[in-house]
Amino acid sequence: MAAWELQGYLNLSLNNLTLQKGQETLNEHQLIKEYFSDVGSAYLAEQGIKVPIGDDAAIISLPREKESVISVDTSISGVHFLETMEPSDIAYRSVSVALSDLAACGATPAWFTLAISIKEYDLKWLSDFKQGLKDISNEFKIPLIGGDTTKGHLSITIQVGGYIDPGKTLTRKGANVGDLIYITGYIGEAMAELDQLKLGKSSSSNKNRYLRPKIRFGVAERLLGIASSAIDISDGVFQDLDHLCKESKVGAEIFLKKIPTFLSKALSVKEINRGDDYEILFTSAESNKGKINDIAREENLSICEVGLIKKGSKVEIISAEGKLVETPSGYQHF
Ligand code: ADP
Ligand code: MG
Repeated sequence: MAAWELQGYLNLSLNNLTLQKGQETLNEHQLIKEYFSDVGSAYLAEQGIKVPIGDDAAIISLPREKESVISVDTSISGVHFLETMEPSDIAYRSVSVALSDLAACGATPAWFTLAISIKEYDLKWLSDFKQGLKDISNEFKIPLIGGDTTKGHLSITIQVGGYIDPGKTLTRKGANVGDLIYITGYIGEAMAELDQLKLGKSSSSNKNRYLRPKIRFGVAERLLGIASSAIDISDGVFQDLDHLCKESKVGAEIFLKKIPTFLSKALSVKEINRGDDYEILFTSAESNKGKINDIAREENLSICEVGLIKKGSKVEIISAEGKLVETPSGYQHF
């Protein structure tokens, strides 16, 4: 069945579907105009957006001598966020987790798109959602430049785009034997907050590491030329370190007692690996230790040395007693 036939059959598209808004009705185009078209429109010119929302596609005028970095992430209700969260936090978090991948590459963000599937038209929900989009758009001066709107279970797909100087990106490849392994921030903060939210409590830390993850753009940019490889920790420390090692074709040794945990709480290996921290794990030659300490101090951020890159292909987790610990599995969708 062709896509358009299927769409007609299931009546999933909001196209031609008038939605009740009190006594009023609203079609897909009015909805897009009212809730999405002006998000970050103040930044269109400075980001070189020649054709924004409203046409068949967005057109971007590329900056000279830059490389384009693009990433996409889908956030699904009940999997990546709780439906009971404020719509503004759902919006902010969805864009934030997508931006985290750009940050880990050392890119500067420039724009984002939004493909959203919503169950129903709800004025209050949409205006609150728009506020979250505006908050993150203003924080990074990135306009919303396009998207798609459909009817279905709540799901949000954010594509982000940014730029880097040619060849100056941080990737998962490049870790060398003898490099030290570092982690920014504290592990477990987001999960501690999620546990509170699940109990219906507001975040105890007031830091919003789960609802509004802070993306480490400043730090990542400063690590260009210093870090040999980097990855964002979204699926769990050990799992993400394993991805980095596979790409770099090296092994690693990581020390449990050196991993910086939220409120210095002793976390089990499984708890450390729960994911959603959106911190950066990176590797760097030992000779850069001083520079990394300077960055940590100047950015007012904890950057901890947690291990060592070794020959081989295994990630070895070492307990406080110096024993080898079995590697837990991180977040798996399937
Ligand atoms: P088409 O039928 O050509 O796909 P749409 O009606 O889906 O066009 O979209 C019209 C315009 O609105 C396009 O510029 C599209 O990028 C934009 N748009 C649609 N949905 C969204 C959204 N959720 N967020 C941002 N822009 C959107
Ligand atoms: Mg469309």
